[in-house]
Amino acid sequence: MSTRRKRRHPTPQPELRCVCGGELKRFWRFCPWCARALVWRDDPPTTDVECYSCGWVVSDHHSYCPWCGEDIYEEGYSSEQPLKAPKGFRYHTRCDWGCGGGVQYPMPYCPWCGSEQEWHEWEEGDYDGTCPHCSRGVNDWMDTCPWCSRDPTGRDLIPRALRRVRRLLLVSRIKDWGYRVVLRPGVSGVDPKFPKIIEIDQVNVVTARRRDEIPWTLLVGLICHELGHSFLYHNWAWAKSDTFKRVFGEVHKAYRVRDDTWVDLQRHRVSTAKDHYVTAYAANHPLEDFAEVFRFYVTRRGRMRELFAELGRKRKEVIVYEKFLALHHYVRSLRGWR
Ligand SMILES: [Zn+2]
Ligand SMILES: [Zn+2]
Ligand SMILES: [Zn+2]
Ligand SMILES: [Zn+2]
Ligand SMILES: [Zn+2]
Repeated sequence: MSTRRKRRHPTPQPELRCVCGGELKRFWRFCPWCARALVWRDDPPTTDVECYSCGWVVSDHHSYCPWCGEDIYEEGYSSEQPLKAPKGFRYHTRCDWGCGGGVQYPMPYCPWCGSEQEWHEWEEGDYDGTCPHCSRGVNDWMDTCPWCSRDPTGRDLIPRALRRVRRLLLVSRIKDWGYRVVLRPGVSGVDPKFPKIIEIDQVNVVTARRRDEIPWTLLVGLICHELGHSFLYHNWAWAKSDTFKRVFGEVHKAYRVRDDTWVDLQRHRVSTAKDHYVTAYAANHPLEDFAEVFRFYVTRRGRMRELFAELGRKRKEVIVYEKFLALHHYVRSLRGWR
C-alpha cells in the first residue's frame, strides 16, 4: 500500500534587512536597530502602484493609503465598494469602524474609509511587551520602537531615577553587570531566564506622569529591589553557596508571595516588624530577603557603619547584620579586593 504524502514546503520568505544590516519585519515603520524611517515599496512588484505621498505599496483599488492615511481616490480605479483584499494584499480582519472593508496587519488606516485601525500584537504573544509611548508590541532588545520611533524601553520617561540608581551602584562599588531597565505592562520583576532584563510596571510611571508626580523615591527603591534579583541571578553560583544559604536560606524554597505588597517600598526606614529581616516583605522568601538587603545596601551607598547603626536602633538580630556583611564581602570579592 502506498500513501501519497504531501510534504509541505513552506515558501521561503526573503530575509528582510535594513541597510544597516539589522533584521526587519515587513511594514515596520522604523528600523529598531538604527532608527531609520522605512519605506515598503512595491518590491517585489505585485500591484505596480505606490502612494504618491509616502511611497509605500498600495493597490489601485484603494481609496486611502493604508500606511499614511492620504486620500488616493481615483475615479475609474478606486473601488466604489470596500473590498476584502485586492491583489497583492491579504485579508486579516475587518475595518475597526465597520465600513465593511478588509484590512491587512499592520495597516494603521483602513484603505476603504481611511479611519485609524488599532493593533494589539503583544496580546498575541508576538513581542516581549508594549511600548510605553504607543502601546504597540516591542521586544526587550529594541532601542527604537518600530512603530513610533521613540524609546520602547521607556527609559526616557524616568531619566532621573535611572541616573540616581547608576550613581548609587557606583558609590556602592557594584559594577554594572549589563542590566537593562524596561517599562512594561503588568507586574515588576525579573525573569530568571532573562536575568539582565529588569521589568518595571509602567503603571508606576505612565499614569503618574500625566499628573506630573512620578514618585521618584519609590521608583528608585523599586528599581534597586529588582536590581537585587537581577544581580543574584547573574551571580547564581554564589546564591547556591553555603555562605549564602546560611544567612539567607534556600533559594529554591517554594514561593508563596503575594506580589501586591509594594506599598512597603514607600517606607525608607528599616522596619521593626521582624527581627530577623530587614523589612517585613523580606520575610516572604530568601530571594525577596536578598533583594531587600540589596536595596538597602545600595540606597545606603554600601556604608556599613550607617547601616549597622540603623539596625542597632531597630534592635535587629545578629543574622541581619550577617546578611549585609555577606553581600558586602561578596561585592568586594567581585572587584578583587581583599
Ligand atoms: Zn537599520
Ligand atoms: Zn501613503
Ligand atoms: Zn474602513
Ligand atoms: Zn512606540
Ligand atoms: Zn522581589
